[in-house]
Amino acid sequence: MWPDRRPPPPAELRAAAREADGLLCLLSDSVDADLMDACPRLVAISVYAVGTDNVDLAAATERGIQVGHTPDVLTETTADLAFALMLAVARRVVEGDGLVRRGEWPPWEPSAFLGEDVNGATLGIVGMGRIGSALARRAEGFAMEVLHSARSGGLPLAELLERSDFVSLHVPLTPETRALIGEDELRRMKGTAVLVNTARGEIVDTAALVRALGEGWIAGAGLDVTDPEPLSADHPLLDLPNVVVTPHVGSATRRTREGMADLAVDNLLAALRGERMPRLANPDVTPSATRPAP
Ligand code: NAP
Repeated sequence: MWPDRRPPPPAELRAAAREADGLLCLLSDSVDADLMDACPRLVAISVYAVGTDNVDLAAATERGIQVGHTPDVLTETTADLAFALMLAVARRVVEGDGLVRRGEWPPWEPSAFLGEDVNGATLGIVGMGRIGSALARRAEGFAMEVLHSARSGGLPLAELLERSDFVSLHVPLTPETRALIGEDELRRMKGTAVLVNTARGEIVDTAALVRALGEGWIAGAGLDVTDPEPLSADHPLLDLPNVVVTPHVGSATRRTREGMADLAVDNLLAALRGERMPRLANPDVTPSATRPAP
């Protein structure tokens, strides 16, 4: 067990895992081929998260190591947070709370502190998988028009960006989705539009986003994930009033974190017993019960 709140430095992780048959890790732990080679007994990598962008999947498959993750159990909880960020940015919830706390409660005026309506607006979902679909179900209750874009269907990304009042990202981080939203994409969005990212920070080009928000190409952003993470307090994003940032807490409810823990342990134990993990992220793997020393 790693006891600290901060992730283990790579050298310490490597030293501590050297004799391990299985590794239960967080998304902040980078598990690359070097680490796998430093742990010759390793047959299981169980990630306590959905998505496996912190693991070199190809290297694990090559070495007969099963990699598991925790989809489904966090879908609804993460979609709740994406919706919360949409509402918070559109209705300036955090800005308003800040005014009140500073003793600057503004007078009630017909045209003061205006935001945008979420109800009846057009929501563009990029990556219509488990969480994207869960967000679409919530949008129905707000009478939103829902557009989506994915490799397997929906609108071309450019058209979705041009038509949406809110754009919410739900693709996994892969080589194709890294910096998927850059300057060109942000310039395509409406000047009144809000970008929400609860997927992974690296899917958005942060420097371009800072310019987009500062120069008014878009109206605001709600971010649960950023690049880099953590974001330092003097980061230019945090100088902008039209940004709400939460510290990567998409799945952070008591019930969901318990469900993730159960699933991460089930994955780990299955592989240690020589069985297939229930939520295997590298289905092409031919699992080795014990790995020969390299
Ligand atoms: P999922 O069910 O696999 O959905 C991802 C969707 O993205 C798929 O339906 C896929 O559809 C689409 N996609 C993949 N590559 C694409 C590409 N290059 N262009 C366009 N669409 C693409 O995953 P999920 O469970 O919804 O989770 C999505 C991501 O959310 C995770 O990978 C994770 O990074 C993030 N997440 C974050 C938090 C948090 O705490 N903030 C919590 C949970 C998850 P097609 O194959 O049809 O393209």
